[in-house]
Amino acid sequence: MSRVYNFSAGPSMLPEWVLKKAAEEMLDYQGTGQSVMEMSHRSKEYEAIITECEALLREILNIPDNYKVLFLQGGASTQFAMIPLNLMNKSGKADYVITGQWAKKAYAEAQKYGTANVVASSADKTFSYIPKLDPSKFDKEADYFYICLNNTIYGTKFPELPDTGNVPLVCDFSSCALSEPIDVSKFGILYAGAQKNMSCAGLTVVIIREDLVGHARDMTPTMLDYKIHVENGSMYNTPPTYAIYIHKLVLEWLKNEIGGLENMKKINEGKAALLYDFLDQSKLFKGTVEKDSRSLMNIPFVTGDEEMDKKFVAEAKKAGFINLKGHRTVGGMRASIYNAMPVEGVKALVAFMEKFEKENA
Ligand SMILES: *Cc1c(COP(=O)(O)O)cnc(C)c1O
Repeated sequence: MSRVYNFSAGPSMLPEWVLKKAAEEMLDYQGTGQSVMEMSHRSKEYEAIITECEALLREILNIPDNYKVLFLQGGASTQFAMIPLNLMNKSGKADYVITGQWAKKAYAEAQKYGTANVVASSADKTFSYIPKLDPSKFDKEADYFYICLNNTIYGTKFPELPDTGNVPLVCDFSSCALSEPIDVSKFGILYAGAQKNMSCAGLTVVIIREDLVGHARDMTPTMLDYKIHVENGSMYNTPPTYAIYIHKLVLEWLKNEIGGLENMKKINEGKAALLYDFLDQSKLFKGTVEKDSRSLMNIPFVTGDEEMDKKFVAEAKKAGFINLKGHRTVGGMRASIYNAMPVEGVKALVAFMEKFEKENA
């Protein structure tokens, strides 16, 4: 068996430990004679899985008691509507920072339900930086303030969180969830599509402060009301059972194999430094993001020559480095190096890039 190094932005690599454990338990989950895929979500065996999953997430992310954890479907994209439907309920206004496609889509969705204001945007330079925020532009009456913490497509990350005072900070952290410690108490809602760093596709994790639950507007579809999911422990309908199980295994890996988020952060910083240091001295490749806005997870780079980019992506694929093609709006390449990408994968990529640069000088 030979596994490739997969630099996909998502769905992305899972830790081998997780895949092996899932394989071991595939036909007979802990003596139950069934796969987790086949289990009733109401069974006591499954109840134990989802309960343990939430407990582990609470422990690893240090989630305060006044926050609820929801395991939902619909992807991060469904949250774009769910957030305004549940939160745009006092002034009907919300502030948005536009740092890329995902923030833009969230903003467009919110405009359907109320007044969404753009506080700042980095669209002028293809989202290659995080804009400086001017707090005097923040609306004190806003029902929430929205950011996308790590911008998967453009490879930027907020170097610091905005201080929004009493206005709840709502954050999409799909592509940096569990990559480093985060102070959950700073947020009203923190949510992620799980297929980047938490699990396989199919699961959306929402962490929501209690006082924000229960204010959905009347026309809100039942399935889009946070309160319904809180009251039913994410079991109003069938939850994404297998993705929740894989999430539990990822959390076990983070806790027992990695040793928690502080360690994960160090490992991620080390991996990102390998690639950024190489890019900073390379004569062929260069990073596309301003230094103080760089992401640890998604690293876009270009040669400046489309034909050369194509050649690189093709040769890299042959050498076992897949999904390095950049997003169509940036061009070039992008290496997504989430938690599950081993340091060996990044070292091997850098060695391959060095060789390619020599051969194409
Ligand atoms: C991938 C991604 C999304 C979209 O997630 P879906 O689960 O496919 O809806 C939204 N936001 C960010 C930051 C992402 O990386």
